[in-house]
Amino acid sequence: MRRPLRRHAEMEQLFGADFLPISKKGRPQAPASVPPAPKAAPAPASKAAAKTPASSFPYEWEKSWTADFQSFRTEVLDCRKCGLCSTRTQVVFGTGPIATPLMFVGEAPGEDEDRKGEPFVGRAGQLLTTTLKRFGVERSQVFIANILKCRPPGNRTPAPDEMAACMPWLQKQIATLQPKLICGLGNIAVQTLLVTKTGITKLRGRLTQAQGVPFFPTFHPAYILRNMSDLPLFEQDIRSALQIAGLLK
Ligand code: URA
Repeated sequence: MRRPLRRHAEMEQLFGADFLPISKKGRPQAPASVPPAPKAAPAPASKAAAKTPASSFPYEWEKSWTADFQSFRTEVLDCRKCGLCSTRTQVVFGTGPIATPLMFVGEAPGEDEDRKGEPFVGRAGQLLTTTLKRFGVERSQVFIANILKCRPPGNRTPAPDEMAACMPWLQKQIATLQPKLICGLGNIAVQTLLVTKTGITKLRGRLTQAQGVPFFPTFHPAYILRNMSDLPLFEQDIRSALQIAGLLK
C-alpha cells in the first residue's frame, strides 16, 4: 500500500472510520448538510445547576455544564488510558460553555497548561486569546480543547497510541457540544482530525469537515510566535472561523 494510504488506513483503524480524508479533487465548501454527530442530550439548565458538583473553575461558563458533562469531566480527570498519566501534573479537560457555536482543538497541553489545568494559557494561548479579543470575542464564549488531554514530557509530539487512547474523550466532547464549527490549531490537530499528511500551510483557511462537523484549519499560535510574518494569515483565519460560527459582531 502507498504510504499516505497506509497511514490513512492506520489512522482509521485507530480512530474509527468517522475520520474523513481530504479529497484530492477539492474539499467540501458548504458542509452544512453533513449529518450531525450523535447528540448527548444536555439536561435542562435548572436541573443541571441543582445537580452540579462543586466547581474547580470559578468561571461563569461552567454553569452551562450539565451534571452529565461534569461527571464526564470527573471521569476524564482520572484517565489512565496511556502512559502520560504517570508524567502529567493533571489532566487538561478543556474549558468553555457547552452551548457554543465554536470549538478550538489544539495539540496537547504544554507546561503552563499542565500546571494550571486549562488549555492554551501559556504564550501561545495568550496569542489566541488576544486574537479573539481583537474581533470582539472573549475566550469564555468558545470551547477550547486538545487532541491530547495530558502533556507529553518535554512537549514532545504526541505518539499515535496516545492520540488513539485520548480520541474518544474529544469525540464525546464534540458530540456533546455539537459546535457549528471546529477550528483546528496546527499540524497535529488538523492532520489527526482530517487523517492526512498534507501540511497546514496548504490546508489552512479552507472550510472542510471532520467528525461530521464543519472544520476550519489554521496555524498553531505557537508557530505564529516563531513566525510573526504569518500573523496576518492567522488573524484572517480566526476572523473567518468566528464569522462562520456566527460570533463576529
Ligand atoms: N499548545 C496546545 O496545542 N495546546 C495547549 O493547550 C497549549 C499549547
